[in-house]
Amino acid sequence: MKVECVTLGPFETNAYLLTDDAEQNCAIVDAPPGAGKVLAEEIAARGLKLEALLLTHGHWDHMSDAADFATAGVAVYGHRDDAACYATPEKFMPWYQMALPHLTAANFRPVQITHWVADGDTITVLGKTFEVRHVPGHCPGNVLFYCAEEKMAFTGDALFAGSVGRSDLPGGSWPVLLRAIRERIYTLPEETVLFAGHGPETTVGDEKLTNPYARPE
Ligand SMILES: [Zn+2]
Ligand SMILES: [Zn+2]
Repeated sequence: MKVECVTLGPFETNAYLLTDDAEQNCAIVDAPPGAGKVLAEEIAARGLKLEALLLTHGHWDHMSDAADFATAGVAVYGHRDDAACYATPEKFMPWYQMALPHLTAANFRPVQITHWVADGDTITVLGKTFEVRHVPGHCPGNVLFYCAEEKMAFTGDALFAGSVGRSDLPGGSWPVLLRAIRERIYTLPEETVLFAGHGPETTVGDEKLTNPYARPE
């Protein structure tokens, strides 16, 4: 499986394009502003079939263009604790307008989740098994998708290289986030590569050793 990172939108959000070894089928992790054009064109240009869209959480900078991909046959995965973000994203518009006053209701399009996931679920994407782990604290419905075979996890906004996700946003909590990082991320094998919602990739081992905010217990 090949992983390509594409950074998009005003918050420099990472989307990931996953391609199978045959270069026939693909999946996307998160759909930031612009993904509906940039990634859709890339997928079309390569003649790939989009199999799934995995949403790490419901914040607008990760799901704004999800509706562009949620077409017939594309499975869309998300956690129910962010259901309101997916169903009625416009309700959260004022909060984003503080940073981006030009945004209008047209920028906030709902997406239909076809597959609700919960902690401990396993899903099959591109023929690979991914374990779902619930990592709340940045927002209620942040999940990571862990592929043991590929030694990689897509973690959303819980943990970054040398940093952690904000916990001061609606539904956020620092004690909840710290516990989730320790119990749901730091318990992955040390060599697991973490692909986060912002910034560069890192590993579980590196963050346990050097992350100044989320120290292991
Ligand atoms: Zn977020
Ligand atoms: Zn984000």
